[in-house]
Order: sequence, then C-alpha cells, then structure tokens
Amino acid sequence: MQNLSERDRHHIWHPLTQHKTHPEALGIARASGVYLYDEGGNAYIDAISSWYTAVYGHCHPYIIGQVARQMQQLDQVVFSGLTHEPAVRLAERLTGLLPAGQQKLFFSDNGSTAVEVAVKMALQFHFNQGNRKDVLLAFEEGFHGDTFGAMSVSGLSVYNGPFEGLTLEVRRIPVPQAGQTDGLLALADRLTADGRVAAFVYEPLVQGAAAMKTHDKAGLDALLSQLRAKGILLIADEVMTGFGKTGTVFASEQIPTGPDLICLSKALTAGLLPMGITSCSRQVYEAFYSEEVGKGFFHGHTYTANPLACRAALAGLDLLESAEIQEGISRIIAAHAAFDRRIKGHGLVRASRQCGVIYALDLQVDTSRYGNFRDKVFAFFMERGIYLRPLGATVYLLPPYITTAAELDRLYEGIEALLEHLSREKP
Ligand SMILES: *Cc1c(COP(=O)(O)O)cnc(C)c1O
Repeated sequence: MQNLSERDRHHIWHPLTQHKTHPEALGIARASGVYLYDEGGNAYIDAISSWYTAVYGHCHPYIIGQVARQMQQLDQVVFSGLTHEPAVRLAERLTGLLPAGQQKLFFSDNGSTAVEVAVKMALQFHFNQGNRKDVLLAFEEGFHGDTFGAMSVSGLSVYNGPFEGLTLEVRRIPVPQAGQTDGLLALADRLTADGRVAAFVYEPLVQGAAAMKTHDKAGLDALLSQLRAKGILLIADEVMTGFGKTGTVFASEQIPTGPDLICLSKALTAGLLPMGITSCSRQVYEAFYSEEVGKGFFHGHTYTANPLACRAALAGLDLLESAEIQEGISRIIAAHAAFDRRIKGHGLVRASRQCGVIYALDLQVDTSRYGNFRDKVFAFFMERGIYLRPLGATVYLLPPYITTAAELDRLYEGIEALLEHLSREKP
C-alpha cells in the first residue's frame, strides 16, 4: 500500500502549487489542539493556525460537540425564503460584536466570496441610486482572494498575468506609513477626483499575504475619513484580521472611522467548516430595499448560511469570549513582545513587527544564494516539529490562542536556531 503522499500524486491538483517543482504533499493523519500529526506519527505545532482559521486549536471538543448536536437537528436547508436558529443567533451575536453601525449580514462560502459580495454590493449601491461608478480603490500588495472580483482588487499580481485586462478597473495606493500621510492623502484625492470610484477595499492594520505588512493607524484613519467624505464606500476585509488576531475582536475597532462593509471568513468558523460573511450598514442595505425587484441583491450560493457552519461560528464566539481564550491572546501578545526585544538586535534580522498575536520577521539574507530559500526554511522548521509557511525571506507566526508558554518557547527557539544556522553558513 502506498502512503498518502504517493497516492495523492495520481489525481490531485493542489492550490497555489506548481506540481513540477513541488511534487510532494505531506500526508496529515490527524490534528489535536495546536498539533498536526503526519502519517508517520510526527507532531508539528501549527504555528499559523492552518491559514489563520483554527485559532482555538484543532478538533476542539466543545466546537465538535456543538456541531454534532446541530447535525442531528438540521443539516442543510435553502436560505432563500427559509431561515433557521443558528443563522439568526449568529447574526444577533455578530452585530453585537462588530463595529457600531453594522446591521445586516449576507452569508457566502469563503473569504473570496465575502469580498466578491462586498464589491458587488458597493457597485450596485451606487447603481441603485442612479450613479454609475465602475472603479475600485485598493492598497498595493493587498490580498483579497482568488475569484475575479477579489482577484481584481488584490494587488499581489505576480500570478494574475494570464488574466490581465479581464479584471475590474482598480486604482492603487500605498499603505499609510508614519510621516507620509500628506502625500498619501493627496494621491488618494487625485485618484478619486473623477467621481468614478465606488469603494475602497482594504485589509485594516495588517496585510496578511504581503508578509504581514503593518500600517500606521492614524494615517489609515485620515485616509478612510477623506474617502468617506467623498461618498466612497469603505470595505474592510477582515478575513485574516477578524476574531482576536490584532488584539481586539476586529481590527476596525482600533480605527475611529468605521467601515460600511466588513468581510469575514477564516477564523469565523473556528477552522471547522468554510463560510464567509459580508456585513453592512443600514445605509447600504436601504439602497437595495425597494418595491422594485431588480433593486434587490441577486447573488446567492447553494450552501448559504449552512447551519453546521453557523453553529461552528457560534461555538467559536463562545470560546473567543471565554476567560481562557482571552488569557491566551494576552499571553501570546506579551510573549511575542518579549521575544521581539530579545531578537531585534540580531544581525540577520532586518526588520520585525507585531500586531496582536501576529508576529513577523524579515531575514537579512541574500535569498539568491540559497536556491529555493523559502523551501529550505520550511524544511528546517518541519524537522524541528514546527509547521509554518515562510513568505520569501519573512517568517511569521500566528499561533492558536491556546498555545502554551512552553510551546511558544519552542517556536521562538526554532527561529533562533534558524538564525544561528544561517550565521554559520554566512561566508
Ligand atoms: C485568505 C484571505 C482571503 C480569501 O479567503 P479564501 O477563503 O481563501 O477565499 C481574502 N482576504 C484576506 C485578507 C485573506 O487573508
């Protein structure tokens, strides 16, 4: 019998993978808490919470228990014309937690569709009021997903070449950096002067796929407030930042100018099932509320508001609000800060940054000297029982909130071992 990795090769096409250069996929047999276990029984700390989803740990008994009960009561049902308790309860709880003014929730399937929905809502919001606005504004290097609308607003375009010219028109601005706000505001002013910009899409405070690039809060607030004054809708993509990662439940809470729409996914369902949500203000909703059928929002996915996914999300919120998880978040924030003080002066650390439980450091290395540097760093950590996904020369951590102090130390020791290894290799 071949192992999983060998069987996988026959018929599976993996996401974001060039199979010719990366033929191997490691078989994972099970997961529990912060650990992933491969087929051979080796354990790895999931240092990125499986792409920022499993923030309460894997196979959490409370979440599984809640979803198992739901499964026996209502599994799946059409969400046009019908409704159910898990969706209604989730909407009640989320609107209580989201930044003030978020009134209505629209369900979809993942982060990309949450953004896709927000972009379509924004375009139709203006259209329904007799204004045709057909351009979007977004940050350079933002990432918002892989469907056409979401891909269009994503600035990370290295992989978008084949689709160039087929996407929405998007104008781009750099992220706010301290001391550079005036230039940014002037640029945003020029790019929106023709009145064609319908909405601004942004990852608040930290851009995940751009190697955890952080923003200047005051600059971001000034930008948002200027755009709002021009009637441009603000779409906060909190797919990565949502549910405690930046130290508050949502990153938008830390910025006085709140968004009109918010996109949620990833940790929304605690790493159990896929689901996306786009929330919006009463003002946005009201532009669709009409005697005219055509003014409604005719977008829908078959599994909209799946009861099991809603139940997983509710269980996740119970945990997020628990003392244990709140302590875990504080513990990780403090531990990252202490580690950062220790490591900052190291000759191989070019820069480091932290936003809540997110910690990233850029290595001072000439990656061209190493062949595939990223793959080597990945393998280095795997050998030490740590699963993380370096981006270029950036190593970042986003550990589950239940990670203990000893497990955090193992992650930091792994990074220090890498620095030592690289120092020895240096000519
Ligand atoms: C991951 C991500 C998306 C896309 O979500 P998918 O569920 O992978 O489609 C969108 N925006 C941000 C900020 C993300 O991190």
